Amino acid sequence: MPESQNTQNFSEVRKTRLFALIPAAGIGRRMGSASPKQYMPVAGAPMLVQTVRALERVERIERIFIVVSAQDHEIDALASGFSERVTVLRAGGAERAESVLGGLMASGMPEDAWVLVHDAARPCVRPSEIAHLIDEILGASSIAGERPAGGILAVPMADTVKRADANGMILETVPRKNLWRAATPQLFQAGVLLKALSGPLEGVTDEASAVERLGLAVRVVSCRSTNIKVTEPGDDRIAELLLGDNAMTLPDIRVGQGYDSHRLVEGRPLILGGVRIPFEKGLDGHSDADVLLHAVTDAILGAAALGDIGQHFPPSDPKWKGADSAKLLEAVVALTKAEGWTILNVDATLVAERPKIGPHMPAIRARLAEILGVAPGRVSVKAKTNERMDDVGREAGMMAHAAALLGRV
Ligand code: MG
Repeated sequence: MPESQNTQNFSEVRKTRLFALIPAAGIGRRMGSASPKQYMPVAGAPMLVQTVRALERVERIERIFIVVSAQDHEIDALASGFSERVTVLRAGGAERAESVLGGLMASGMPEDAWVLVHDAARPCVRPSEIAHLIDEILGASSIAGERPAGGILAVPMADTVKRADANGMILETVPRKNLWRAATPQLFQAGVLLKALSGPLEGVTDEASAVERLGLAVRVVSCRSTNIKVTEPGDDRIAELLLGDNAMTLPDIRVGQGYDSHRLVEGRPLILGGVRIPFEKGLDGHSDADVLLHAVTDAILGAAALGDIGQHFPPSDPKWKGADSAKLLEAVVALTKAEGWTILNVDATLVAERPKIGPHMPAIRARLAEILGVAPGRVSVKAKTNERMDDVGREAGMMAHAAALLGRV
């Protein structure tokens, strides 16, 4: 395929407006009975919250609509925890199709927008599977043959399929070739869904079956069997294990890099990695000029994409005159912690011609680990000379480089 065609399909996919809708209008069977299924805890959060989180990880979804019943008493407690991309609509009905229909109308989304209808009870769907469905259906113009009106995630049938009578006696073995188990999300244009769900709904068990009745082509897009629907007691335990797996396979890990340099001058103390080193000169700067801590601070800020040391502690501000760089680094560590980051490791290199750093290295490493609040095994500091080359080699100053790795669940 020529490259230009690829590019065109890609931009077509990108300009399409895309929404998600979760019908979640189930209420307890009787007043005062146990919570409806979507609020059942799974892996430490209500199932609906886990499902919303899975959709929130797909950045191309403009807005996620949750359709609940007007009598729902539990959604309000959760709503504040959702991102601003999530809207709760009290437009649910007794049947799933009514909730989807009510949600579509209440959402105000245009009829040509695409909408991913997703079960509240499928929290284990992977963002990569949703992205695959979107790419396959919205980018389908390049595929030979009929352009589908929409598509659904589905699992190819792996088991042998039997048809049995009411007594459990096998009538036949149904060839499993071309058989799929329908899952969600199911992706259609809002207008198509409105039309499909406004017709008679007998025998309609998912959005695709209603669209099929209009005579429109719907495609299956393969997903893993791990995209389970939490239906029976014990399924929540399986979902918990699968969600743990998803978190394991998609960790949020960021690397950051930092660099700093300071001049060596007479009449200043030499402080490296928060440790005072006996020497006839010291580093010059507005703060205590701890070149090593400054490089580490920038590496951590860089990993968290939180700017640089100069932005947080401007040299023009008299507040930072003579500042203890350990305090600045502690403040930055606290800032990244507040954003959910954990420091996985830090590695730094100091470039200095003199004095010999080796004897001070254990103290520098221990102090740095202390400031960072991590085990010493996660901190490495190396020292090199510059082989008497350039200004650092002629002892005009010192340089430091650092790398930091941050992780967040
Ligand atoms: Mg500096």
